[in-house]
Amino acid sequence: MIFSKKEKQIVAYTVEKCPSCKKESKRKFKQGDCLFVESSKCPSCDVPMNITKIFGEPTA
Ligand SMILES: [Zn+2]
Repeated sequence: MIFSKKEKQIVAYTVEKCPSCKKESKRKFKQGDCLFVESSKCPSCDVPMNITKIFGEPTA
């Protein structure tokens, strides 16, 4: 169930996609991230990337 004795931590990640070169980048979720809003700029195109996915992953 939700609480397990192993106490695995869930870390939230945000995936951004560049509308120009279609490159995706995954980074840690930060406060204020919201689906389909513009986020940081693409390092190669210098255009704002859109957030396409927010998901949680258990830490290793
Ligand atoms: Zn790009």
